[in-house]
Amino acid sequence: MASESVKVVVRCRPMSRRERELNCRPVVAVDGARGWCFIRNPGAPDEPPKQFTFDGAYCMDHVTEQIYNEIAYPLVEGVTEGYNGTIFAYGQTGSGKSFTMQGLREPSSQRGIIPRAFEHIFESVQCAENTKFLVRASYLEIYNEDVRDLLGADTKQKLELKEHPEKGVYVKGLSMHTVHSVAQCERIMETGWKNRSVGYTLMNKDSSRSHSIFTISIEICAVDERGKDHLRAGKLNLVDLAGSERQSKTGATGERLKEATKINLSLSALGNVISALVDGRCKHIPFRDSKLTRLLQDSLGGNTKTLMVACLSPADNNYDETLSTLRYANRAK
Ligand code: ADP
Repeated sequence: MASESVKVVVRCRPMSRRERELNCRPVVAVDGARGWCFIRNPGAPDEPPKQFTFDGAYCMDHVTEQIYNEIAYPLVEGVTEGYNGTIFAYGQTGSGKSFTMQGLREPSSQRGIIPRAFEHIFESVQCAENTKFLVRASYLEIYNEDVRDLLGADTKQKLELKEHPEKGVYVKGLSMHTVHSVAQCERIMETGWKNRSVGYTLMNKDSSRSHSIFTISIEICAVDERGKDHLRAGKLNLVDLAGSERQSKTGATGERLKEATKINLSLSALGNVISALVDGRCKHIPFRDSKLTRLLQDSLGGNTKTLMVACLSPADNNYDETLSTLRYANRAK
């Protein structure tokens, strides 16, 4: 069933020091057992809280280890068996996307989804018998609808999207790097991360204005009892989306406003694709509406798995943004 292949969870972070200093009140509550998330409108105290249901709802009582084991593990396991999978973090700047995807080194329970996925993949590779693996990584950025190779010799060069009758959509000239260990994967990711375009907005000085896709491709060659080779290929896309905040709040003008318009455009294109996939009845999936969705075309829908983690701030001063994240995530459901 289409809806089975797309999972959406929400994660509400604890109140930040700044929010506590500003005397913010919490407006978000979750019921983890039922996957429910509630939000109260601070401007209308008599209104009942709005309720949303997801495949999982997590709050500050939950650690990334639990989210990984419950939701991400089966997706990454599928990739080691030759299926494609995509994991997104969605939310306004400062809502916990990097915390969820990259995470902390300590405590180990809060290590991010990305390092856990690296470990998971290399463990599978090392444990498999009569099987050879080729693991390769690539890392690209979409900024203002231009695609750049974060691991390329020239990270400023704009790359073109091409379509191949068998390979599907690909980025011409994107570098692929063979990786043999978790440490190597982490080093590559760090190198690329530093090459990202980081802009300045009022919300957060290093708020990310670009989308980036780190892809691990696995080619699996299993040899059966008769000595015959069986080839399969799986791909894991780890997608770090630009902050979803609206332009009015970020004080954007000129170039920044142009940027923000494109960010909003590709986030809404992604929302449209995911909701069309979840619906299952749509014949036309609007992949072509943005570079992000075109690039991920072979990893969204069909027999692939998709996970979206929508990150939330609990504070009343973020009510509008949090409600819009919940609505976006709910549409993807
Ligand atoms: P984003 O990537 O969405 O801009 P970050 O991941 O950088 O946001 O999170 C903003 C701040 O909140 C960081 O200081 C981060 O450590 C903290 N934070 C986010 N999520 C959690 C969480 N679940 N538990 C504790 N701290 C968190």
